[in-house]
Amino acid sequence: MSTFSDFNFAGHKALVRVDFNVPLDDKFNITDDTRMSATIPTIKKILADGGSAILMSHFGRPKDGPTDKYSLKHLVKHLHELLNPDGGNITKVFFADDCIGEQASITASTLRAGEVLLLENLRFYKEEEKGDKDFAEKLSKLGDVYVNDAFGTAHRAHASTAVIAQFFAADKKMFGLLMESEVKSAEKVLHEAEKPFTAIIGGAKVSDKILIIENLLQRATDIIIGGGMAYTFLKARGGKIGGSLCEDDRLQTALDILEKAKQKNVSIHLPEDSIIADKFAADANTKNCPSDQIPDGWMGLDIGLKAIGIFSEVIRNSKTILWNGPMGVFEMEKFQGGTKAIALSVADATSKGAFSLVGGGDSVSAVNQFHLADKVSYVSTGGGAMLEYFEGKVLPGIAAIKE
Ligand code: AMP
Repeated sequence: MSTFSDFNFAGHKALVRVDFNVPLDDKFNITDDTRMSATIPTIKKILADGGSAILMSHFGRPKDGPTDKYSLKHLVKHLHELLNPDGGNITKVFFADDCIGEQASITASTLRAGEVLLLENLRFYKEEEKGDKDFAEKLSKLGDVYVNDAFGTAHRAHASTAVIAQFFAADKKMFGLLMESEVKSAEKVLHEAEKPFTAIIGGAKVSDKILIIENLLQRATDIIIGGGMAYTFLKARGGKIGGSLCEDDRLQTALDILEKAKQKNVSIHLPEDSIIADKFAADANTKNCPSDQIPDGWMGLDIGLKAIGIFSEVIRNSKTILWNGPMGVFEMEKFQGGTKAIALSVADATSKGAFSLVGGGDSVSAVNQFHLADKVSYVSTGGGAMLEYFEGKVLPGIAAIKE
């Protein structure tokens, strides 16, 4: 395995797996270009060295082969703008309307130093998600160096994310800058966490987060549980939770987790109080109430004031922080106080020297919404991949490069 920063791309055609799966509105305007802009430094380094970049990505979930809706051609203009921020045409961007085949291969082979080629959606071939070896080999012929910069799909053993790596020698496959920083931050938290290490886990369902909590029980000193999933734990402990979100088939799981935490000396913090509402709506009536005494007809939609105080204290005393999932229904203003307060505490702890990693779609949206993204140590772009990494799984996209 080579290191991207040390590799000189002069004269090379780098085949780069990017994650350009950005959201579009119904007029094909990009509504959030984070994933594209995050990989621009990788592309620029290749071009600056005197290499050329052939970009490949999936886009949406096309079911029946090529369709206009899922064509990556809609992204070409914006990619050109990102690579030519002063409005010129120094960096030329070409598009191949197939990711394999004659046109792709001719355009790739005639690509000159400093030029970029974007290939059409990989998922127009079902072979991509099946991890088909022949398809991966065809893709591999387009470049002489393989760079994986798509952390968001690192948990998939797809043709372009993992299988393809076997067609490149060890010194011709590497992580891109984005992937490298994602892997470094994740490894730092999972394997080199300075203690106290607090994991903040929120969101809607316990069932989605059982594996990550179980893995973190081996590593964290404190686990803060907020959001809808907290009520399954509170009910399991005998609390009255009214109409709050609850997975009744996970009550025993919740008790098992609490018991394991006790054995391992990990402190689990549940919200002592909640902001409760008389309906799931932005204009609901609300009040502060102990989380285990929620009356019928009311539901907990955010952590309460005492909980904010206790959680913040734990966070401020931490040296390593991992945050996945909001503390409440932060999409509605009345129920975003808890998530915002926790985001501020994470930022505060970071300013005092803690290492903080925020990952998972909703917690990332929350730190962005509260303009705190640059006040935490690292914001991960890979929701599912990050979750699986912290569940302790080997990510095929990482393994394929490291092997
Ligand atoms: P997840 O995708 O599992 O991380 O869950 C995120 C979603 O959980 C967000 O859309 C939140 O609105 C929702 N959520 C957080 N807290 C609650 C709660 N107390 N009751 C219902 N939904 C919640």
